[in-house]
Amino acid sequence: MSVVGFDLGFQNCYIAVARSGGIETIANEYSDRCTPACVSLASKNRTIGNAAKSQIITNFKNTVHGFKKFHGRAFDDPFVQGERVKLPYSLQKLPSGGTGIKVRYLEEDKVFTIEQMTAMLLTKLKETSESALKKPVVDCVISVPSFFTDAERRSVMDATQITGLNCLRLINDTTAVSLAYGIYKQDLPTPEEKPRNVVFVDMGHSSYQISVASFNKGKLKVLATAFDPYLGGRNFDDSLVDYFCEEFRTRYKLNVKENPRALLRLHQECEKLKKLMSANSSDLPLNIECFMNDIDVGRVDMRRAQKIQVQLVAGTCRLLKSVFWCHTELTRDDIYAVEVVGGATRMPAVKERISKFFGKDVSTTLNADEAVARGCALQCA
Ligand code: ATP
Ligand code: MG
Repeated sequence: MSVVGFDLGFQNCYIAVARSGGIETIANEYSDRCTPACVSLASKNRTIGNAAKSQIITNFKNTVHGFKKFHGRAFDDPFVQGERVKLPYSLQKLPSGGTGIKVRYLEEDKVFTIEQMTAMLLTKLKETSESALKKPVVDCVISVPSFFTDAERRSVMDATQITGLNCLRLINDTTAVSLAYGIYKQDLPTPEEKPRNVVFVDMGHSSYQISVASFNKGKLKVLATAFDPYLGGRNFDDSLVDYFCEEFRTRYKLNVKENPRALLRLHQECEKLKKLMSANSSDLPLNIECFMNDIDVGRVDMRRAQKIQVQLVAGTCRLLKSVFWCHTELTRDDIYAVEVVGGATRMPAVKERISKFFGKDVSTTLNADEAVARGCALQCA
């Protein structure tokens, strides 16, 4: 039976499997290798992944996303409380003190635990793997952020049990990425030679993780890890959203934050704009027709938007310094390559900052989206 690797991302999930001597990533029924971490509960059914993502605005109270970091956290945890006020769906304190998600499902009010929510997502990933491999899938390896605590890891394990999966191991995102790098490098130094040191930087939607690993043929050693669990692509979206909310308040007298649907639409448009900014430096439009009160909004002052990004990027550098100077005895000259993965490292400002810090161009040897899942699949191959 095959062991599949799941990258359970905050925003995006990927599946990989070791097959016929290589690692393959598996696509879902939309021929999409990415399955959004999104579950939509409705009066007659539930949808998960791509279909659920398209319900984010229409069924906003019952479409659940951005829940990964509630694993193992009490409802009263300041992080949970901070998120709660921004979420379009409701959270509720469970009798155990844990975080529950309150939705209307099959014409009834229901409260799901985080483990149940993740189990629904995992069920989808399991089914996708089974239909691609044409056989049952039970054994898996799942990645979790390197900063996940024991309680948070246990909670993810509980979710795998609900799904009927046998999770052989949880591995850190950063370890998975190093594994994915090491396996295909044919030219690694022999065990007698000086090891090759590589820095891995992963900026996803919700977090920023860095690790330094040394490689010899058949040997991988993680030298240091550092993380900022609260800095990722979504912070860039949030700051663009805040900027436009303010802009629309003065320009059109609109109170966007009081209208959940409009706010979600603005969020989606800001994420698109952020991605466009990665490829363009000219002025870009942010056009939303009939945004609120039949008003069409548009036009962006790119300089303001870029300034917002630059401020956030400054934060990325602090962490590089910390991992590098506090946790290793390496100098910049000891670094062979700086590999970037994770969707948010596609932002030129982020790449530039990392490259400037190390005094060398960043490498993109690994598939930025799939490296974590590939590493998971390799772990037990
Ligand atoms: P996490 O690792 O925090 O759990 P994740 O693994 O789900 O999250 P990724 O899929 O690595 O996250 O990255 C998603 C983020 O990358 C989103 O914020 C998305 O907007 C951003 N992103 C993707 N492509 C681009 C791009 N071209 N330019 C800028 N940002 C991008
Ligand atoms: Mg990730």
